[in-house]
Amino acid sequence: MKKVSVGVDIGGTNTAIGVVDEAGKVIVKGGIETPSHGDIEKYMDDLAKAIRDMLNSTGEILTVLGIGVGAPNGNYYSGTIEYAPNLSFQGVIPFVELLKKRFPELDHVALTNDANAATIGEMIYGGAKGMKNFVMFTLGTGVGSGIVVNGDLVYGADGFAGECGHTTLVPDGRLCGCGAKGHLEAYCSAPGMKRTAFELMAKYNATDSKMADKSFNELDSKMIYDAAEAGDKVALEVFELTGKYLGQGLADTVHHLSPEAVFLFGGPTAAGEYIFKPTKESMEEHLLPIFKDKIQILPSKLDSGDAAIVGASALVYKEMEK
Ligand SMILES: [Zn+2]
Repeated sequence: MKKVSVGVDIGGTNTAIGVVDEAGKVIVKGGIETPSHGDIEKYMDDLAKAIRDMLNSTGEILTVLGIGVGAPNGNYYSGTIEYAPNLSFQGVIPFVELLKKRFPELDHVALTNDANAATIGEMIYGGAKGMKNFVMFTLGTGVGSGIVVNGDLVYGADGFAGECGHTTLVPDGRLCGCGAKGHLEAYCSAPGMKRTAFELMAKYNATDSKMADKSFNELDSKMIYDAAEAGDKVALEVFELTGKYLGQGLADTVHHLSPEAVFLFGGPTAAGEYIFKPTKESMEEHLLPIFKDKIQILPSKLDSGDAAIVGASALVYKEMEK
């Protein structure tokens, strides 16, 4: 019988669901809307039905090992989603408890935040297989991170460890989405890169830049990449600066943890060497001599389209190790 785990990734508008085999391959995927009605019991019923339908749709006899969930502000210890700003469910939601009620036959139901889920996915199925100490940075709308020490994800005292995106790079710098100033996320997230692009266009009065005709809301990291590919000087400098900031942040993380490798995941990493090269150079520049030329910066090996559900499903295997 084929063994599978179910991965659920809860986003602000959609909840993605996947049935994943032991190799990390998604057998079947789908999803439901993350509703705006705020009725958690109804949402849990809909989610449970969607999961059961999906398991039945494979036409195979499956052994379901468990369900892993990635959610914003997901707390691994308590299995709760706490005050997630983009979800309609208010306050502290006992998500794992509500899900277990609907799947009493399953031993392993667990939840964590999306960056931690991606990190576990990298460890179980991806490029970090066999690594005991590594860090993953997910670059997207925000910058998330997950930390693995001695083979275990670090959750910290209250379940929220690993917010490396909110370390301070620039004293009194740019306003971050969290409300504080100068955080890494304000520079190295996709919107952060966009802010850099507009700052540079203003600085150089670069009306001839390939990005100059775009509005702030239109511009995205793919357009910055395309402009860089076409030799646009501003776009090239956006990557240089983003890498400089990111490398500085990674060096701090390396000093704290001494990881074997740092994995980068997310839209901006599709730019390849444009982002990896300046990041590596900057990290090396900020590292203590004992760390120099030892830490690899690697692209995630998870398929970007499926990483969130695959990562969430991998949580089940960590639960089974206990
Ligand atoms: Zn912040």
